[in-house]
Amino acid sequence: MHLNFITMRKHNFTAGPCILPQQVLKQASEAVLNFNNDNLSLIEVSHRSAPIVAVMEKARALVLELLDLENKGYSVLFLQGGASLEFLMTPYNLLKTNGKAAYLDTGTWSSKAIKEAKLLGEVEVVASSKDKNYNYIPKKYTIGNDVDYFHCTSNNTIYGTQLKSFPKTEGLLVCDMSSDIFSRRLDFSQFDLIYAGAQKNMGPAGTTLVVIKEDVLGNTGRQIPSMLDYQIHIAKDSMFNTPSVFAVYVSMLTLQWLKDLGGIDAIDKINQAKADLLYNEIDSNPLFEGAAVKEDRSNMNATFLLTDERLKEKFDKLCKEAGIVGINGHRSVGGYRASMYNALSLESVEVLVNIMKELNK
Ligand SMILES: *Cc1c(COP(=O)(O)O)cnc(C)c1O
Repeated sequence: MHLNFITMRKHNFTAGPCILPQQVLKQASEAVLNFNNDNLSLIEVSHRSAPIVAVMEKARALVLELLDLENKGYSVLFLQGGASLEFLMTPYNLLKTNGKAAYLDTGTWSSKAIKEAKLLGEVEVVASSKDKNYNYIPKKYTIGNDVDYFHCTSNNTIYGTQLKSFPKTEGLLVCDMSSDIFSRRLDFSQFDLIYAGAQKNMGPAGTTLVVIKEDVLGNTGRQIPSMLDYQIHIAKDSMFNTPSVFAVYVSMLTLQWLKDLGGIDAIDKINQAKADLLYNEIDSNPLFEGAAVKEDRSNMNATFLLTDERLKEKFDKLCKEAGIVGINGHRSVGGYRASMYNALSLESVEVLVNIMKELNK
C-alpha cells in the first residue's frame, strides 16, 4: 500500500466542512483501503459487524468522556440529515402538543430552527439581534416558566458571535453547538439536549451528533415518525437505519486525537491563544476592524473587515501567496471570516497575522 500525503498543507480557515488533523486524515485513508488489517475497506463491511459496532461504541464513549457526561443519564446518537434536521427533531421530541418553546434568535441558523419549530407548536422568540445584523448576543430577556424548552445557538458561525454563558430555565435547555462543540470548557450537564453537525469541529459532513438526557423524552403526547424519534434511535444504538459509518469513524478518530491532546481543557487553552492572537491584531491594526461586538466575539469564527476596501486585492493576494484559504466572509456579513476550529494550528493564525502586519507596513 502506498499513499501520498500532502506535505505542504494549506492554512485552511474554512467555516465548514472544516480542517481536520492531518493524522486523522491519514488514519481514515488507511481504513478506507484496509480496515483493521482485515483486507476489507471500512466502507464495504456491514454496519452490524463487530468491528463497526465497536467503532460506534468507542465514538459514543469518547463523546461522553470528553464532555464529562459519563453516568449522568445521557445518550449519544450519530444521526444523518445534518443539524438542519435537528431543527425539526427537537420540537418533535420535546414540544408538547399544546406546549410552548422559547428561542433565542442570534442568526440565520437560529431563525431556521425557529421556522421548523413553528410547524409543531407555539414558539416565543425571547430576543433577537437581527436589528444589528446579528453582530451581538442579546442578554436582557426572560424565559417564561411555562415553556417546554429554551433553544439557543452557542456559536453563530456566520456572524462570529458566541454565547459565553447560558440562562437558567424552568424548562429544558437545548443547544445547537454545531460550530463550537468540543472547543471550550463548559458545564455540559446544564444542557438537556445538544446537537451538532459533525463537519464544523468534529469530522466530515454526513453525521450529526446528538447528546440527550434520556429522561426528557416521551412526554410530548404526539406521534413521532420513526426516523424522527430519538427514543427509537437510542433503542437501536443509532442503527435504526444504516449509519454513516465513515463519518462516525472519522469523528471518532478526531475525538481520540482530542483526548490524546489533553481533552477539552487543553484545546480550550489553544483556541483561546489563537483567538487572542488574531483579535489583538484586528484591534491594533488600523487597517482592520472586527465585525462582532467585542464581548460576544467567537473564538471559533472571527469576522473582520478592512477599513479601506481598496486594499482588498492586495490583502487577498498576500493571503493566497501564503497558502491561506477559506477566509472570505459570508455574503451576509462581508469582509473576512477566519474560522479557527480545533485542528487549525496556532502557526496558521500566526501566518495570517503576519500578513495583516505586512499589509500595514
Ligand atoms: C452549519 C450549521 C448548521 C447547519 O448544519 P448542517 O449540518 O449543514 O445542517 C446549523 N447550525 C449551525 C450553528 C451551523 O454552523
